[in-house]
Amino acid sequence: MNINKISIQSFSKLKRNVKIAAIFLTSSLPTKINNDQFVKMPKQIVHEVSLSSLTKGLDVVEEVNCRGGVTKRFSDSSLNVLKNRLLSSNFNVTYTYPIDTSVKPYIPSTGQFGSLRPQNRPHLGVDIYPRLYGRKPKQPVAVLSATDGIVVSVKKSPQKDPQNLIANNIKIMSPDGKIYSYDHLGRPEDYVGAKYTELKPLGTVVNAGDTLGTVGRTGETAVWHLHFGVSDLDAKQEQLKNPTWKKLFKDYSVYATPSGQVDPLDVNKAGDIADILNVYKLDDGPKVDYLDKL
Ligand SMILES: [Zn+2]
Repeated sequence: MNINKISIQSFSKLKRNVKIAAIFLTSSLPTKINNDQFVKMPKQIVHEVSLSSLTKGLDVVEEVNCRGGVTKRFSDSSLNVLKNRLLSSNFNVTYTYPIDTSVKPYIPSTGQFGSLRPQNRPHLGVDIYPRLYGRKPKQPVAVLSATDGIVVSVKKSPQKDPQNLIANNIKIMSPDGKIYSYDHLGRPEDYVGAKYTELKPLGTVVNAGDTLGTVGRTGETAVWHLHFGVSDLDAKQEQLKNPTWKKLFKDYSVYATPSGQVDPLDVNKAGDIADILNVYKLDDGPKVDYLDKL
């Protein structure tokens, strides 16, 4: 397993509004293009600390679903162990935008947490669109890790998926103990001749701003977007006891599993990442959508 290092930041505590102003400023400046990436965002690495011990002894689960998609992940009990190890390590966390902001992405009303899908099923993340109406971006748009962290689940779409049922998905646990999920990531054949970033293996340590893949439309969706989810293992325990959530997962088990999903735009539930996401343009139209089924 390839666990070596993680970057942490040691800059002093800035007040929230100062932080947001800094984010705006940073994203508006001309920035260098990293050698290994096509994303035009600065990376902030202050120093590195070994995290090699944090995934020691964790159980790995491999699941092949009936359509040939393969998921490799840490078991539920191992996730709790890892969360405790991360929280007790007292790492500061760096947060950044989950996709390249040079494309001016936005979150449509139909892509917000809790927006309604067929049969009144609520949407359990936020959808970030690089282009209006989810049209295909003219060039690949990088999906970036919003936080430092460790890859705790990787789901690969089968090579042939004519009905587009299985999404490419990666989940990363951050030192804040939350799990950040990136869904519908693209396929190599989406853009002929363009660089493609393979999904990172389970256990890989990532820095905020690392490229995880490209915006795609794998899985049951008709539009090109990133489905970004935040979940919390403590919230999961509450949801498992709550009749409304239990019914949701029972009725829609194909699409949703109880993993402690919280609203990424809610600072009380999602924490600091909400500040980052709330600078996206949100539209206030009707929150009903029949396009994105996840
Ligand atoms: Zn979605």
